[in-house]
Amino acid sequence: MPACPKCGNKETVPTKVYSVIVEPPEGERGLTEKKVGMYTCSKCGTKFPTVVSRQKYLIVAAEQLSTLQKKLKSFESENKHLKEKLDALMLEQKELKEELERIKHEHELRELEIRLKELESYIGYLRKEKSELERKAADMT
Ligand SMILES: [Zn+2]
Repeated sequence: MPACPKCGNKETVPTKVYSVIVEPPEGERGLTEKKVGMYTCSKCGTKFPTVVSRQKYLIVAAEQLSTLQKKLKSFESENKHLKEKLDALMLEQKELKEELERIKHEHELRELEIRLKELESYIGYLRKEKSELERKAADMT
């Protein structure tokens, strides 16, 4: 809310708004459109202007603009492609991880089976020893 430069009273509504095009300073590009509001102080009657908004415009040749728009479009589609590829890769990674987990389990299972067979043959050996001992004991009596 602009204030009157003379009495400090705050005004909300401009009496008139006009736009001014400002040329760029030396060495810079683009035009600036300034919306200027004219205010009249309701207390002391002082008229004062205030810049309401500013918009900068760059002047670009139509051909250049169309080239830029085309480039942007191709970037967008490339980006979309990359995103789809990334999604596919992530899915593949997930499947590979699950496959790896499955193989690991299978491997562990096989190791357990081997150990079980070893234990079974050891038990068989112990049984044989036991019956041998029992036979020897029976012979002694
Ligand atoms: Zn005033």
